[in-house]
Amino acid sequence: MEQNNLSYILHHMNEDELPKNAVSPPIFQTSIFCFPSFASFQEAITDEVNHSLYTRGNNPTIMLAEQKIAALEGGERAKLVSSGVSAIAHSIMAFVRSGDHVVCVEDCYSWTRVLLSSYLARFNVFVTFVEGTDPDEVIAAFRKETRVLYLESPTTLTFKLQDLPVLAAAARQRNIKSIIDNTWATPIFCNPISMGIDLVVHSGSKYLGGASDIIAGAIVGSRDDIDLIQKQEFLQIGTVADPFMAWLMIRGLRTLHIRMKAHYEGALAVAAYLEKHPKVKSVLYPMLDSYSQKDLARRLYKGGSGLFSFNLKTRKLEEVVHFVDTLRLFKRAVSWGGYESLIFPSAVKGGASGNAAFDDISLIRLHIGLEAAEDLIEDLDNALRCIG
Ligand SMILES: *Cc1c(COP(=O)(O)O)cnc(C)c1O
Repeated sequence: MEQNNLSYILHHMNEDELPKNAVSPPIFQTSIFCFPSFASFQEAITDEVNHSLYTRGNNPTIMLAEQKIAALEGGERAKLVSSGVSAIAHSIMAFVRSGDHVVCVEDCYSWTRVLLSSYLARFNVFVTFVEGTDPDEVIAAFRKETRVLYLESPTTLTFKLQDLPVLAAAARQRNIKSIIDNTWATPIFCNPISMGIDLVVHSGSKYLGGASDIIAGAIVGSRDDIDLIQKQEFLQIGTVADPFMAWLMIRGLRTLHIRMKAHYEGALAVAAYLEKHPKVKSVLYPMLDSYSQKDLARRLYKGGSGLFSFNLKTRKLEEVVHFVDTLRLFKRAVSWGGYESLIFPSAVKGGASGNAAFDDISLIRLHIGLEAAEDLIEDLDNALRCIG
């Protein structure tokens, strides 16, 4: 019972024997670990997945972060890696070989799309992109060569949801690994493993870190799957998390449950404001009562994070630019998940696109940070006056 308690995991789990009675875990800033005997050295080399031998494989600070993330997601094990994209790449590549096929949602994170549509094509691995909102469409895309179903719910920019329990069961029946990018919901609001999904990936650069000061990734799943990923992908490629990053993530995790509640309340307030504004065409926040997939959203998520999109009514680029430039609290930037509010207009063209939603210049993505919602609403209200 205690094991499942959120604050136990975030504040106490595996921390009762810290050196010198420290309350904050030390940063094991070391590349190697020394052994008192031949036998203990041999034991560590034989089972590198469970021992600290060399920090490219394992390190106690990194392991502590992994144990907390695994417990949060309800998985047996987690692997912390250098970025969200390395978590995505390793989890997919561990289960495909030449001739295999992947089914993926079309509005996935842009670099996931590039990985699947061009990088993996070099190794004769092919992908079918599906919209994802209708389970029958996804299931119809399965072939006998399909090895991986890759989901991201909600999808990047367009916030389309997938029915995770239905798709997880359909994939399992066909011996297809199901993987989901759960960065948006975080383990606070959604635990896909409990819905039958095999592997969960996270960009820890977002809410798990929570302060816009680290790049990090995590993969969570069964002991067997994570061991396979560590032995067959991670040790060869070397996408190592460093101890200081892991320590900053542990620090970020201390407040994850509190921050997510605040992001949710802020996002609901701002989304509700925007929805009523005459210059706004539509708001894409799954937790709104008006959302097209609201019933599925309520089934999947205990709450929503601070990220959503909306469409302005205007189609004039200069009006969009003027609106974006007038904002003072919302900073113009990529990424999200920190304490600060951000705006990402799809009219800004990036290095990896392919998501057709980017073509609609009136589509704006907001991240609602931890500022007071009324201040953010005032900022938006002022900037929306720029639109004729
Ligand atoms: C940012 C992001 C990623 C990539 O993570 P990095 O840590 O930047 O490599 C993957 N998926 C989603 C949904 C993201 O927002």
